[in-house]
Amino acid sequence: MNVQAGNKKRSTFLPYGRQWIDEKDIEAVTSVLRGDYLTTGPYVPEFESKIAEKVGARYAVAFANGTAALHAACYAAGIGEGDEVITTPITFAASANCVLYQGGKPVFADIDERTYNIDPQSIERLITKRTKAIIPVDFTGQPANLDTILDLAAKYGLVVIEDAAHALGATYRSRQIGSISHMTMFSLHPVKHITAGEGGVITTDNELYYGRLLDFRNHGIVREPSRLGRPSPGKWYYEMQSLGYNYRLTDISAALAMSQLDKLDAFVSRRRRIAETYNHAFRELSAIRIPYQADDGNSSWHLYAIRLDLDKLNTGRDEIFSRLHDENIGVNLHYIPVYLHPYYEDLGYPQGLCKKAESLYESILTLPLYPGMTDQDVEDVIHAVRQVIGECMEVNAVG
Ligand SMILES: *Cc1c(COP(=O)(O)O)cnc(C)c1O
Repeated sequence: MNVQAGNKKRSTFLPYGRQWIDEKDIEAVTSVLRGDYLTTGPYVPEFESKIAEKVGARYAVAFANGTAALHAACYAAGIGEGDEVITTPITFAASANCVLYQGGKPVFADIDERTYNIDPQSIERLITKRTKAIIPVDFTGQPANLDTILDLAAKYGLVVIEDAAHALGATYRSRQIGSISHMTMFSLHPVKHITAGEGGVITTDNELYYGRLLDFRNHGIVREPSRLGRPSPGKWYYEMQSLGYNYRLTDISAALAMSQLDKLDAFVSRRRRIAETYNHAFRELSAIRIPYQADDGNSSWHLYAIRLDLDKLNTGRDEIFSRLHDENIGVNLHYIPVYLHPYYEDLGYPQGLCKKAESLYESILTLPLYPGMTDQDVEDVIHAVRQVIGECMEVNAVG
């Protein structure tokens, strides 16, 4: 063996994210399984009113997953054939795919180099007569520049659909994420703040959007007598008025999500504490840029993304990524700019479209961060990062 002093490799692989499930969650799910309704029962509306209240929105509509929720929001916003929607390339593909589902055209604006969130100036330059909406993403849990984006939306008559898959529990200028944009999406995937297995939510204060979201989730079917297009022939009658989908969340999932919601505040504080520990540990490493935090937001820290200063390193991100994996530290990469995916390339999006996003992609790395991490897990990450970065420093850049 050739072990350097202080080189103690972790014995098990540490993932970058993971759910936290306790006995209360398990009881919540089993009680649904023992009951009458596995779906279209009472748990979905109960979860919806709980999460709406939690984030300070009038309405919440739950969906089978966050992607379905984004699709429904695009439908509710009236996005159709040929409409343009501006979003960021530094996101999961679903933030742009939802526009394609509706026949619209995603338009990618470049990012702010400090926060990695969409840059409002870049948005404004891209607005045309065809622009219908903006989909900002609260990347890593740090709120996008929402007031500026909402001002632009008001000036040009656009809808803001905030992708807050990373930002449940975050605040912006003392307001809760979920109560600010015209519609806000949360994801309930296991790596997100709270989970339902799969699930998604749209919150809104707008009654018109609320109705459309409900219709879209359930095949476009309407039952309420007051909304029918013709006299009702009987109590059994319902009609399909628009083309919707089956995007419903089950009661099994809703019960899990509701039980998880009780733990949200504790989850977010643990995430914040781990992020602070990382910030403190990495502040002195000159080859790493710790995540910049704008002072108008309070992140809920879905991800801890470091940026490598490649000028100070004798190797690239890929090598550092695999060396950390060799140390059993499950670093990850968020994100490949969406338009660089082959499907988007085939649609004609060119390389070089968003220069800052592409340069970020070369140098970004996500460290493990989730509430179930022990203090020892956090120490292991810090130790491995210090060691690998130390080994990869350019000789004359040390210090
Ligand atoms: C997770 C995620 C989604 C999609 O959510 P699903 O529930 O997995 O469909 C969309 N946007 C972003 C930024 C995400 O991280």
